[in-house]
Amino acid sequence: MKIDFIIIGQGIAGTCFAFELIRRNKSFVIIDKYDSTSSSQIALGVYNPLVLKWFTKVWNVDNQLHDFNIFYNDLKSISTDTFAYDNGIYKFLHNPYDQNNWLSKSSNRNTSLYMSSDLKSINNPGLVFNKFFGLVNFSGRVDVQLLLNSFRSYCKSVNKLINEQFDYKSLTVNNNLISYKKIKADKIIFCEGYKAVDNPFFSKIKFKPTKGELLVIYSKNLDLDKIIHSKFLFIPLGNDYYSVGATYNWNDITNETTLNGRQQLVNMLDSFLQVPYKIIHHKAGIRPSIFDRRPVVGSHSEHKNMYILNGLGTRGVLLAPYLSNVLCNYIYNNTLINLEIDYSRM
Ligand SMILES: Cc1cc2nc3c(=O)[nH]c(=O)nc-3n(C[C@H](O)[C@H](O)[C@H](O)COP(=O)(O)OP(=O)(O)OC[C@H]3O[C@@H](n4cnc5c(N)ncnc54)[C@H](O)[C@@H]3O)c2cc1C
Repeated sequence: MKIDFIIIGQGIAGTCFAFELIRRNKSFVIIDKYDSTSSSQIALGVYNPLVLKWFTKVWNVDNQLHDFNIFYNDLKSISTDTFAYDNGIYKFLHNPYDQNNWLSKSSNRNTSLYMSSDLKSINNPGLVFNKFFGLVNFSGRVDVQLLLNSFRSYCKSVNKLINEQFDYKSLTVNNNLISYKKIKADKIIFCEGYKAVDNPFFSKIKFKPTKGELLVIYSKNLDLDKIIHSKFLFIPLGNDYYSVGATYNWNDITNETTLNGRQQLVNMLDSFLQVPYKIIHHKAGIRPSIFDRRPVVGSHSEHKNMYILNGLGTRGVLLAPYLSNVLCNYIYNNTLINLEIDYSRM
């Protein structure tokens, strides 16, 4: 039997694309070699419509949030779990310049929707700073691990998931048919994250992979329920666990944790908390970033039934539902892909 799609990779990109196919009544199988250190398995899961350095809007964020909300609402058709928490991010404004800048941008028509019009306090004796926070609206966190694991279980239960390394040499492509071992499909899509650097079909993509490290800590006395951004993000996970991260490193592209990464995060924690904490985990992963900081979607230049969804960089959580919708509209409704993100720019 011929199916509609073979999907390579089940990170946040492959998961969102597969769910978009379910919404459109298309059949698929996912081939994914499970990797507990993949970017999606490591991700802090924060989604945020603002660039917190400049207080400007993220590229195309209104459309991204629209598709994000539809995605998490529609997921309820296959899962009773809660994946997304819309509880805001408290941006710590270190000095009067940042505070004034926030207040001025929060009255700007372009950004006001996403920024509190006043500065907030957080009354928590465990924090060194309790005043001068700007609240980012329509932001929060997705439990990406839960989402991936839950969707994986669903796919396994309906025989749509093969846990193996994809072997490029076993793939045969012609215009109407994709054959891979015993599988026949109309189309194939690669959602491989940074491992796509080894993909022979999309070798033109100019990746700039970015390593990120994070800590998971336990602090019995902190009792904080808000996401805070100071130098790094600080995220309550429940039951007195918190994650903090993530660092940026463009030179060391391994998923080994480093002393330097740990020290940067510990320095932030020590300047930020005045209660004891214990480090539980230290993790590292590689973000699939592209040289021009834009994602990459579209079809292969020669094989029109072969597609790519990659380059989610630091913002996979918000981008993945949006890009899946854009790509499916391109494939099934003949809409155009914005040239800024189209694979043809490579
Ligand atoms: C420390 C850290 C913190 C982050 N925090 C955030 C955050 O707070 N918010 C946010 O939006 N983003 C965050 N990110 C970025 C986010 O994780 C990425 O944008 C996103 O996860 C990329 O997803 P992906 O599906 O493209 O790739 P991946 O997550 O890498 O998934 C690819 C999957 O495909 C599989 N695969 C690849 N090649 C093959 C093959 N040939 N055969 C079989 N399987 C294959 C891999 O094993 C993996 O399971 C963070 C990243 C890091 C490292």
